[in-house]
Amino acid sequence: MRIAIVGAGIGGLTAALALTRRDMKCVVFERHPTIPDEGFGIQLSPNATSPLLDLGVRLDAAVPITHRELRRWQDGKLLTRTDLDRYRTSYKTMPRGALIAALHAAIPKEMVRTEHRCVAVNGGTIRFADGSTQFFDAVIAADGLRTTAGAAVVTDPPMPSGFVAHRAVLPLDAIDVLGAPDRVVVWLGPSRSCVAYPIAPGLLNLVVVTAVPGMPFTGWDPTVQTLTKSSFATRTLYDRPPSPAWHRGRTVLIGDAAHPMLPFIAQGAAQAIEDAAELAVHAGHPDWFPRFEAARRDRVQQVYDLSRAGRHVHHLPDGPGQQARDRALATAPPGSHDWLYGPPLEERHHLHPRRHPELPEDLPQVIVHGVRRDPHP
Ligand code: FAD
Repeated sequence: MRIAIVGAGIGGLTAALALTRRDMKCVVFERHPTIPDEGFGIQLSPNATSPLLDLGVRLDAAVPITHRELRRWQDGKLLTRTDLDRYRTSYKTMPRGALIAALHAAIPKEMVRTEHRCVAVNGGTIRFADGSTQFFDAVIAADGLRTTAGAAVVTDPPMPSGFVAHRAVLPLDAIDVLGAPDRVVVWLGPSRSCVAYPIAPGLLNLVVVTAVPGMPFTGWDPTVQTLTKSSFATRTLYDRPPSPAWHRGRTVLIGDAAHPMLPFIAQGAAQAIEDAAELAVHAGHPDWFPRFEAARRDRVQQVYDLSRAGRHVHHLPDGPGQQARDRALATAPPGSHDWLYGPPLEERHHLHPRRHPELPEDLPQVIVHGVRRDPHP
């Protein structure tokens, strides 16, 4: 079987590796002349590091993160601290370029064809920007938010979220700024939030998500005021509800091509990695695309919903809603993220997010959720 993967991003390269490990042959087409070496950081939760490490990806250079803290915007008061050390594999952070390089190093070099921009897929035939065509038995569209390879499957455009992300990598030691070398810190405030974490010794990654133009941080925790004086790269944030279909004919979608998410719970790449690992499990079966979609759809929808709700719940103005959220955060049980981070692929469908009992009905479920073990999902 000839398999093509369009897009050498996190999802596409993980799919190439996972298929290779199952002795399936594939080729990856990437539009750029080189694999991008992006310096901004990425958080890899245990549900992402677990399949990556199982596939043999070297994450040694990544920073192990033991805790995530949510803090109040005004004074940095701790709202909740999540223990991330309770899972089989570590929560890690690193520069995105380093992750891409580690994925690349794990697959044969000749498997990736750079400077191959896909402009259309028809049946199993991929047409490239230079006019050439190639036929494949299966085409995996891993070409991100504005998928071209998956255009026959996804028809809705990405939705602007009303938020932009400002990103910077600062030459700062996490221990000096965050009080520890191994934590992700999120400040929640009205209309904006700020996330900081180390990605290497002496390098701090900063992401500010805001609905308000400019970055007025007057009145915020002095640490945030200092950090946000830096210069930033800005991008608009989009998402799209998971596509009604993830496959058609010889084409299947994974990662952002199928379900681009907002970054509030740092799961877009993690879900692309989970997709890639799950797809490889079914590869070779006559119904591998439907089996893959059936295995993934509910979980992806839950993660998407939670990511989207972050627009509202991360940015509540001070008042009763914010107070209810903060009370719920303060009483979140230690295992409240197990459904998301914890179990290996095959057990995941037994775990579901659950509303925190103290969260009022008018607030969407987010941040705080428990675990329900359902033997008959
Ligand atoms: P992409 O990363 O978009 O890769 C697509 C690849 O396809 C690219 O290499 C591209 O060049 C190539 N391509 C595109 N079109 C073509 C074409 N026509 N022909 C050939 N090649 C093509 N997720 C996390 O899990 N953790 C985080 O901490 C996190 N932080 C984030 C912070 C921000 C500010 C944002 C915006 C997102 C964040 N995400 C995070 C989400 C994550 O970046 C994406 O979900 C993830 O990169 C999706 O991977 P992908 O492989 O599906 O697509």
